[in-house]
Amino acid sequence: SPRPDADLLEGLNPQQREAVEYRGPALLIVAGAGSGKTSVLTRRIASLLRTREAWPSQILAITFTNKAAAEMRERVGALIGDTARGMWISTFHSACVRILRREAENFGFKTSFTIYDSGDSRALVKRLVKEHEADRYGLTPAAVQGKISKLKNELADAESYARTANMSDPAERVFVEVFADYQRALTRANAFDFDDLIAQTVYLFRAFPKVADVYRRRFRHVLVDEYQDTNHAQYALIHELTRPPGEGDEPAPYDGGGGMMIFEPAPQPAGAAEAGASLTVVGDSDQSIYAFRGADIRNISEFERDFPGAKVVLLEQNYRSTQNILSAANAVISNNFDRKEKKLWTDVGAGDPIVGFTGYSQHDEAQFVADEIEALHRGGLAYGDVAVFYRTNSQSRALEEIFIRSALPYKIMGGTKFYERAEIKDAMAYLIAVANPTDEMAVRRILNKPRRGIGDVTETAIARYAAEQGISFRDALANASALGVGPKIQAAITQLDAVLAEATALMLPPSGEIAPSTSVADGLALLLNKSGYMDALRASRDPQDEARLENLDELVSVTKEFARNNPDGTVIDFLTEVALVSDADDLEDASGSVSLMTMHTAKGLEYDAVFVTGVEEDLIPHRISANEPGGPAEERRLFYVGITRARKKLHLSLAMTRAQFGEVTVAMPSRFLQEIPAELIDWRQSPGDVNSRGGGSRALNARRPGARGGSSNWGARSLPEGGSASRRFGDDLVPKSSSIDRFPNRIPAKVRDNGDLELAPGDRIRHDDFGEGRVDAVTGEGAKRIAHVRFDAAGQKKLLIKVAPIVKL
Ligand code: ATP
Ligand code: MG
Repeated sequence: SPRPDADLLEGLNPQQREAVEYRGPALLIVAGAGSGKTSVLTRRIASLLRTREAWPSQILAITFTNKAAAEMRERVGALIGDTARGMWISTFHSACVRILRREAENFGFKTSFTIYDSGDSRALVKRLVKEHEADRYGLTPAAVQGKISKLKNELADAESYARTANMSDPAERVFVEVFADYQRALTRANAFDFDDLIAQTVYLFRAFPKVADVYRRRFRHVLVDEYQDTNHAQYALIHELTRPPGEGDEPAPYDGGGGMMIFEPAPQPAGAAEAGASLTVVGDSDQSIYAFRGADIRNISEFERDFPGAKVVLLEQNYRSTQNILSAANAVISNNFDRKEKKLWTDVGAGDPIVGFTGYSQHDEAQFVADEIEALHRGGLAYGDVAVFYRTNSQSRALEEIFIRSALPYKIMGGTKFYERAEIKDAMAYLIAVANPTDEMAVRRILNKPRRGIGDVTETAIARYAAEQGISFRDALANASALGVGPKIQAAITQLDAVLAEATALMLPPSGEIAPSTSVADGLALLLNKSGYMDALRASRDPQDEARLENLDELVSVTKEFARNNPDGTVIDFLTEVALVSDADDLEDASGSVSLMTMHTAKGLEYDAVFVTGVEEDLIPHRISANEPGGPAEERRLFYVGITRARKKLHLSLAMTRAQFGEVTVAMPSRFLQEIPAELIDWRQSPGDVNSRGGGSRALNARRPGARGGSSNWGARSLPEGGSASRRFGDDLVPKSSSIDRFPNRIPAKVRDNGDLELAPGDRIRHDDFGEGRVDAVTGEGAKRIAHVRFDAAGQKKLLIKVAPIVKL
């Protein structure tokens, strides 16, 4: 009879099939982009389940983002049906949170712990840097935070670091003090920062072998995607999880828990020594782009040493991209030395040439991107199948301005920063003050929000009283009369205390039973209303506060949605979910919109059409990478990640001038462009064209790469040898007479507001860029009204009436 997983092997190439079928302690799949690594991982999970070699609860799959986890869960579900429930498919961070929520009490934390995101840690570090006057030793909060994070990723703490550091250096001594204090403050607050989530789980497993054994017995199959980007702490975690159970202590009986952990014991052959979990990792060292966060490529290269007898499978056929795109990718990455040569091939054919474009300014570049997307869209491509990448978040602004004006639907992935907005942080702090009252930072944050007349003096008085009494900052609020503050302030504190107490009773009833998650939405509304927070915003005349109210409404919708999806979810579950919405993730559905994101965020994703923008020296490779060892090589891998996301259409664009941080710089084409064989790129507007049209300065001409048609796109002579290539205007490389006017900066600094401009079909209008045209139709409502205009020269365009640079004639 056919194998039960026969259908799962269909369509796989022999190597992929081997990787799905292999059964053994350790399997490493190494392969270039788009060769089906993630697909194989998914099928392997499905196969284990289908053949009943594993229960869903015995599988732990680690992905890089929550989005990737959701996708994998969906795909496994599609392959084998609903049995996928009970399986852990999550990021490292989410998996660790789930473990810590169950086990934190083993080492002095409460299960209601808070998770500090990087903004929260920064605030704490800032306070400590100030207290220790660490800036006198040149220690900035950013530097201290970065160093702490790096050390935690190496599983070092203040004490172990002090043993290796040069403690005769006062800067090092102060750093160690700040680090130690930082950790004490976290513990006191019953909080973990992001790096702790991993590091403390490793600590937990090492210190409590019985606890570790519970998970070692539970997870019989551990699978890790994007293994090239694991750091040391994550590596150690994988090691801990896959060790044979029962090595150290007697295994502890485990009740199996309730809630999320459905534990079905694995049948063990009687008498046999227990084996560690089987481990599968997949990765591509050419896509390692997180060295700056401690990722260690050696985790891949040393896998065979760490896991003796490991099976290694190489995949070489690429199923994602056309040959032209692949050839460009192969050509670029082959410039990195110290790598294993991989040759990706595809049988889908050459496909369209890569399109190149050089804009006069970033707005010109953005206009090209928008026009090109509209053309693709008219050709039948859905907006959701298009992505635009950039190196740094700040580059999105110019794109957004043009997209808004062209009424092009778009969505910024990872850059939303919704949860970083002040009002959202305030609201979350209110929830945290209820869920984890020992989190002093949260309580301090809301002390005077809205304004209650509670200033620094009172805050210090509360802290002092709490210390004297040996109670928490939160509990001190209940004794306002003992603080020695005036009656008005006393009343304000008492009122805040009462609101928090009321919300606590609603969301965390004293019986200890879990309140239904609808109480999160109700509790949030109660906190924001009774604290006076909403009233203060409503009464404000600051136009920004209107937007803040909308954002809070949005947060309330998020809590309601959470309640729908998690009927049993508590306020703590809600806070966890929010804390884990990482960089690369987004709560909203972007299927009808063009996706904008950084190249880092793009990892693992694929789109029919991809625009890589700002392909300039100092952006990609980024200026800060120039001085880092291995920096330019890592940037090249990042660029490789960017271009290998494209399935059919790849566009590479740059701008001759770029306004950033209040300065206009002359940009030079990225050295990576030069590495792509000239015949692969069809330049719509090359730097040469820009020369003849814009009549750029002599200095620019001299340094600008040659026109197309040579052995490379740029002519090898013309690119600078590394280092900084863009120069400020006024720099002597560019004549003083050179002026930004040469490069028409077509977008006003501020997006225009036409108010309620009335437009009807038949009206004639004039557009700043497109000239005159006739309105064919008007659709949409209010601020989203769109004019469909047929321009005399520029053709058909859709314009957002409110902001387009148009006048009615
Ligand atoms: P990356 O390195 O970018 O993460 P990857 O190696 O994980 O890429 P996948 O995302 O798994 O690659 O696969 C790339 C594309 O190729 C997907 O669209 C996938 O469905 C398709 N694919 C993978 N294997 C096959 C196959 N055997 N036949 C047809 N299509 C395949
Ligand atoms: Mg992948």
